[in-house]
Amino acid sequence: MDIARLWREQPSNLRLEGRWCEQCDVRLFPSPRYCPECGTGKLAAIQFSGRGSVLAYTTVYDAPKGFAGQVPYVAALIQLDDGPVLPALLTDVVPENVVIGLKVEMVTRRIRCDSSDGPIHYGYKFAPADLLHHL
Ligand SMILES: [Zn+2]
Repeated sequence: MDIARLWREQPSNLRLEGRWCEQCDVRLFPSPRYCPECGTGKLAAIQFSGRGSVLAYTTVYDAPKGFAGQVPYVAALIQLDDGPVLPALLTDVVPENVVIGLKVEMVTRRIRCDSSDGPIHYGYKFAPADLLHHL
């Protein structure tokens, strides 16, 4: 990974940074320029805890380009404990063990690799919270 990419991906991808609307108290992720609720541009940067639970999920067996080495994997909607819902991949879990409401936490993992010698993209995934606290 080159430094420029690392720098570019650091703030929002590796640290789950979002926005908080000062007018209507909504928490947003990813970071919009304007609040979708009230339209203001007065949004403060906040960092989410990375803790949440699985709201919905699907197991992917037929992967898009760049994800082939990772099937089967679980794509989920994560309800963060501190507000927003975001789509993310689960990691360190057997698909059969995923249930609605499973407690998860953000971890930094390789997301995809475009080719065997191509760039590797890093970002967040979510792993079962139980697993992380027993390591
Ligand atoms: Zn607002």
